[in-house]
Amino acid sequence: MNDLNLKDKVAVITGGAGIICSTMAKSLAAQGVKTVILDLNIEAAVAVAKEIEKEFGTPSMGVSASVLDKKSLEAAKKEIHAKFGPVDILVNGAGGNSPAATTKIEKMDGTETENLEDTFFGLQIEGFDKVFDLNFKGTVIPSMVFATDLIKKKSGVILNISSMNSYRPLTKIAAYSAAKAAVNNFTQWLAVHFSKTGVRVNAIAPGFLLTNQNRFLLIDEKTGGLTARGKKIINGTPMERYCIPEELTGTVIYLVSDLSKFVTGVVIPVDGGFSAYSGV
Ligand code: NAD
Repeated sequence: MNDLNLKDKVAVITGGAGIICSTMAKSLAAQGVKTVILDLNIEAAVAVAKEIEKEFGTPSMGVSASVLDKKSLEAAKKEIHAKFGPVDILVNGAGGNSPAATTKIEKMDGTETENLEDTFFGLQIEGFDKVFDLNFKGTVIPSMVFATDLIKKKSGVILNISSMNSYRPLTKIAAYSAAKAAVNNFTQWLAVHFSKTGVRVNAIAPGFLLTNQNRFLLIDEKTGGLTARGKKIINGTPMERYCIPEELTGTVIYLVSDLSKFVTGVVIPVDGGFSAYSGV
């Protein structure tokens, strides 16, 4: 097998204090990567960094910044340069959905003429802004800030975090689905734009995990069991279970290492067969 060529590389993981991305950061640390846990929530970011240093013995730092605020990212970059030097890997992990951009019902049946609140017509444009900003612009802006390091080094990798929704939208979550489709499109665009620079750009499209952003849709608050929607996901996933964050890390290592040296502009599903299944 090729050398992964990851030891002592510097990786910035946005949303790194979250459930999925803290696991991704740990998988990088296990390969000797110096990890930067960049998050709005600085206490949680520092806690993850400390955990990583203790568990893997590789340097890690928590940094406070918003993926939507270029100035805060530039300030974070200075801090990172002072401690670890230039960045080699950027994982654009910050993302999520919002109830304000989620319809209450899945399909209209034409009888809702008096009460449109639960349908498409009740969605809040502010919710769309929030979800588009976080998932799409929150991928574009950190790429603008950190990829200059990669371009200067003529090597490095950007890994975007997409979703199953990007291929075919899930009911209810119009903005999140469209924003993740935009992430796929941008992954291809930037991969082509950087293709002669030595910098690769790819994405991973996880299937369904039970996390903070979707718990309100998938777990019944009263019973603690799966909602009808939660069960539908299981029925739509041939492996008949939810993904756990650790199951994403093999694909992460593949995409950020020299194992995928000639791979750029791809979005790899890690979904227990969801995208392959017709439901019949
Ligand atoms: P999470 O909510 O556990 O973590 C998200 C992290 O991002 C949090 O620590 C939060 O503080 C941080 N964050 C939020 N806004 C930020 C901002 N403006 N700047 C910097 N940091 C910010 O999320 P998760 O469920 O671990 O999801 C991580 C990624 O995976 C997201 O892009 C999500 O869309 C994607 N994803 C999740 C699922 C799933 O089933 N949970 C499936 C597919 C893809």
